[in-house]
Amino acid sequence: MCGVFGIWGHEEAANLTYLGLHALQHRGQESAGIVTSHQGTLYSHRQMALVADAFSAEDLAKLPGTSAIGHVRYSTAGGSYLKNAQPLFVSYQGGQLGVAHNGNLVNAQALKDELEQNGAIFQSDSDSEVLIHLIARSKAPSFHGRVVEALKRVEGAYSVLFLTQKQLIAARDPHGFRPLVLGRLRGAWVLASESCALDLIEAELVRELEPGEVVVIDDTGLSSHKPLPAPKRLGRCIFEHVYFARPDSVLFGTSVYEVRKQMGRQLAKEQPAQADLVIAVPDSGVPAAIGYSQASGIPYDVGLVRSHYVGRTFIEPQQSIRHFGVKLKLSPVRQVLRGKRVVVVDDSIVRGTTSRKIVKMLRAAGATEVHLRISSPPTKWPCYYGIDTPSRQELIAASHSTEEIARYVTADSLGYISLEGLNAAVGDPSGETYCNACFSGDYPTGIGMERKAESLQRETAAKVVNGTNEVAPPAVEPEPPAVLPLTAKRAQA
Ligand code: AMP
Repeated sequence: MCGVFGIWGHEEAANLTYLGLHALQHRGQESAGIVTSHQGTLYSHRQMALVADAFSAEDLAKLPGTSAIGHVRYSTAGGSYLKNAQPLFVSYQGGQLGVAHNGNLVNAQALKDELEQNGAIFQSDSDSEVLIHLIARSKAPSFHGRVVEALKRVEGAYSVLFLTQKQLIAARDPHGFRPLVLGRLRGAWVLASESCALDLIEAELVRELEPGEVVVIDDTGLSSHKPLPAPKRLGRCIFEHVYFARPDSVLFGTSVYEVRKQMGRQLAKEQPAQADLVIAVPDSGVPAAIGYSQASGIPYDVGLVRSHYVGRTFIEPQQSIRHFGVKLKLSPVRQVLRGKRVVVVDDSIVRGTTSRKIVKMLRAAGATEVHLRISSPPTKWPCYYGIDTPSRQELIAASHSTEEIARYVTADSLGYISLEGLNAAVGDPSGETYCNACFSGDYPTGIGMERKAESLQRETAAKVVNGTNEVAPPAVEPEPPAVLPLTAKRAQA
């Protein structure tokens, strides 16, 4: 997952991009970068850091020009190194080019193999570089033509910005996996992954780019093109609404906050609980917890507070760091929890380690019962389109029932929203315009379905090797018995 931002026609292009990236920081925290264009030359600055640390006033002053693109990254394809930080920036026979990409190209490896056989040398291991090689090799007469030729060859998810000395081009893949919005700031055009970036710089939201749309902006104005064949179905990422996007954004035409609250209301209907209060796992669980409280009539309170000085722990690539991070990030409010039966609402369970720590934390702070409610269905399948989900072996719901997961996380009860309920909450009851493959295994692209088949084959082979019908349980951290609360011991027995 990453965030992209672009601007055309503003004196303060670099500064505004810097601000836009701040608003998109939740989409990636490993690296940040800006490329600007000024009088026929591109300027670039990238760093492995949060936006606030990646650019000093001097760095920004060295990024002149009235157009810019920017990027915040966390790695889904390719390692976490500066060489993979974006915007990628190259010189080729067509001129200079900056590229900022959000999403994963599912056929990147096949294209990379083919390009390397034909002599291409890759500088990074990010899938986005494939786009640059395809553009450089295209024989199309215009840059716009080269971009379209390249996009016709790639499959998967992309919301991507290209900046040259003369043009800014924005494109969204035909499935529309990742968001991308167009805005206006006085005379300037602005592009951003989420509308919250437009709000910060006081730009007006014009519209979302349509799936498969390519927008070309230059000194003659803006033109919109639909050169890519339409797929059988759309694949807007439902997990953006569940977790990833900021609640103050308007995403895929709907308010993220309203959708999350509706998920909570639906969850309360589907998974009621006898409890004294509803609390959220902040920040992502807050709107759904409010919705749950409203629909159930159980009062909402703040039972967990979050430290805002640590990043999103899940994003840290190493498991050991993430485990430590849960304690760093969340603290219980004893005065609220003591002696209470608590419903705790979170957006998702991936490996189960976060929930397990939270349940323990709530009990240790005096909660008498902990009922865990999740505003998305069980996460059973990896994402190939840009969300950082681990392999199926690590997804606890891929191999465990809800009852087993409840036992593992030591909750008194566990309830997930249904897929139908989630589809209704995002306003797509038929589930036809969203990708919900992480919950359903129904991947909207052929390559996604192929990868699913391969992973199922591997699982079957592993079962044969183990001589059992059971899929091996996910690797779980051993629990020191001394810190287990009584109820948890009972649940485990
Ligand atoms: P886990 O401990 O693996 O079950 O992680 C679950 C927690 O991670 C939940 O509280 C989610 O809010 C968060 N989460 C789920 N998916 C992602 C993701 N792709 N990136 C970052 N955080 C996530």
